[in-house]
Amino acid sequence: MSLLDRNDRRKHLTVFRSIFPRDIEQTYNEPARLLLSEEWVISSCMSCDDPPCMRLSEHEIECPEFPEFSYERDFSVCPVRAIRWSYESETPEIDNRLCIGCGLCAVRCPVGAIYRKDNHMGVVRRRSEQYTVRIPYTRSGVEKQRGQLTIVNKIAWKHRFQKESDQIMRKIYHALSNVDGRSMIPNLLVRNLLISLGYKCAISRSGDVYTRIDAVYSGKASWDKTLGAIEIEFGRDTLDASRSILDDIAVLHSRSNIDKDRNCAMVVCLSFPNKRQGYFQVIKDIKNVLGLEIQTLSLGALLILTWNSSIINLGKKEFYADFDHLSIRQATEFRLGRTINISEGCLGILEPKK
Ligand code: SF4
Ligand code: SF4
Repeated sequence: MSLLDRNDRRKHLTVFRSIFPRDIEQTYNEPARLLLSEEWVISSCMSCDDPPCMRLSEHEIECPEFPEFSYERDFSVCPVRAIRWSYESETPEIDNRLCIGCGLCAVRCPVGAIYRKDNHMGVVRRRSEQYTVRIPYTRSGVEKQRGQLTIVNKIAWKHRFQKESDQIMRKIYHALSNVDGRSMIPNLLVRNLLISLGYKCAISRSGDVYTRIDAVYSGKASWDKTLGAIEIEFGRDTLDASRSILDDIAVLHSRSNIDKDRNCAMVVCLSFPNKRQGYFQVIKDIKNVLGLEIQTLSLGALLILTWNSSIINLGKKEFYADFDHLSIRQATEFRLGRTINISEGCLGILEPKK
């Protein structure tokens, strides 16, 4: 939905003059750079009409493959509401006191104008009079900008938000430890990370009693038939998550005609459960008895994959871990194409805590 339909406080937006970027590149903790003509210039905010850094679209937050799933219609990109529109600067602004540094807003910016440096998120305001121009916020202006951003979106480039480290992960996990377990923040965070990784994802509407499925997801591309249920467990009760996911598979099989063998179900947890907790034994039992491989992903792994614009394939069950193989480090490194800079057992991100 265009902001034109919602308010009349916008005055301007930004468009390229005549030269369009031919390429975009980004290094960690820097805004992206655009190749304009023969020159690399630092990217800056285009003051998008319907800013993707702030708002998800309808088709991203619904999964028509699950018609009976009643989903939350919250379009916020930021799970903690730390980004807002400034009508003074006509760019988004980030409240760093609220921001947890998940990078979701940054990796959705088509020109890479949001970045993190020295533990602060920033939005680059318009810099180059030479290549961009501010135009009045009118219907024709909006159409012009949309046309230009459609072209920019065709450039294949990878966001490099920030390189992971134990310290960065500890900060994010610490920030999340203050979150009320009943709030929607964990579910919004997981939903939006999966959307950034190229899936459609819908989270259960708060208060819905029809099913207790936390979320469902499906492939975005028409050729990708992957779909599945998700249990999101940020508390300590991960054993419950392995049992609940089994319940989800059964409900979807019997009530919604989603064949159990088609269901690429997964559990997303804050930290990998400890071997002694029994979670991975249940996951192994499910595989042995029913032939279903339930994948386990941690929040940290989802963040690392998102910060690097990784392409993942949940249909291949590449994040399957069980009692005999308690790690997703190798699978995550395969998708990153490099070694992960997280020490073994750190926060239970890639394997159980030491
Ligand atoms: S930060 Fe990026 S996505 Fe957000 S309004 Fe600016 S250009 Fe658009
Ligand atoms: S980095 Fe995450 S928490 Fe911070 S403003 Fe962006 S979306 Fe919100």
